[in-house]
Amino acid sequence: MGTLQFRVEKGRVLVPVGIPCPFGCKYCYTRSGEVGPPRVTPQEILRQFQAFALLHHAAFHTIQLGYDSDPFAYPERGIELLHGLCALGKHLNLSTKACIEGEALRGLAEVRTHLASHLVLSALVSLSCWESAPTVEPHTPTPAQRMLTIRSLKRIGVPSLVAVRPVLPHIPDAEYERLFDEAIQAGCEGFIFGPLYSDAEERFVRFVPKEALSTTPGRLVVVPWSAHAPTWTRYEDEARMQCLAALATSKGGHVFWSSALAVASLSKQETLLEKRPAGSDPDRLVGGIALYQGPGGMQAFFDARGTS
Ligand code: SF4
Repeated sequence: MGTLQFRVEKGRVLVPVGIPCPFGCKYCYTRSGEVGPPRVTPQEILRQFQAFALLHHAAFHTIQLGYDSDPFAYPERGIELLHGLCALGKHLNLSTKACIEGEALRGLAEVRTHLASHLVLSALVSLSCWESAPTVEPHTPTPAQRMLTIRSLKRIGVPSLVAVRPVLPHIPDAEYERLFDEAIQAGCEGFIFGPLYSDAEERFVRFVPKEALSTTPGRLVVVPWSAHAPTWTRYEDEARMQCLAALATSKGGHVFWSSALAVASLSKQETLLEKRPAGSDPDRLVGGIALYQGPGGMQAFFDARGTS
């Protein structure tokens, strides 16, 4: 039984699902095993996380389930973990590409009723493309099924954000435009954009045409959200992301620049405001979010003058 590692980042902690994901997205970074042991029982995950939470309770406000697999690829497991996490008195967020309906939806609605009324259960529903999904994510629920998930979750009072990640260098903007339209129609609360990661062997980017990858800026980073801190190449065309963000905003979508910030927004956690650089004006304002160009790239903060 592997020892799990947890790390508080921007007020949230990621909790693993503990079973290999059957969806097999071509960009999936979990297959290298660098982000945690592949198989751990829900009971063991909860036992180890409860021990961590006892020591670090004041340091985080949100628990985010799912970075090593999809919590609703096997819904009973996701529900069991969420029920166990409910008792810790924190906001809960799950990250998924599953089509959540029927029994799984009922289970999730029950989790929500067990969560204290001042706490929020929310979801990140991920998409990386639209028409290209059969090639890029051949075994994953279709984008249309993920829109059903957003609608279903809304019905039971669980707000969703769409994680547009990874933004893929060879996918045309038109697919992202379709994605924004569909997600806004489905009732999502906003969008997050995320980079494409690659390990040294380039296992997660082999499906991307070489010419598209070579023209995308990449830099070696220690992955900040992972307790295992792998060093990977982060491919991210900031200018393109800004254009996509502007497009989403023009259609009425809110844009966030990190999932920590987005989830904090859903649970009305405005503590990140305190981290806004004192006395400085942002470089840009998008949907109530202040953007600052920093040495490590664009950083985003809630803006007190913003609209959201
Ligand atoms: S859904 Fe997530 S964990 Fe599963 S294969 Fe796709 S990227 Fe990997």
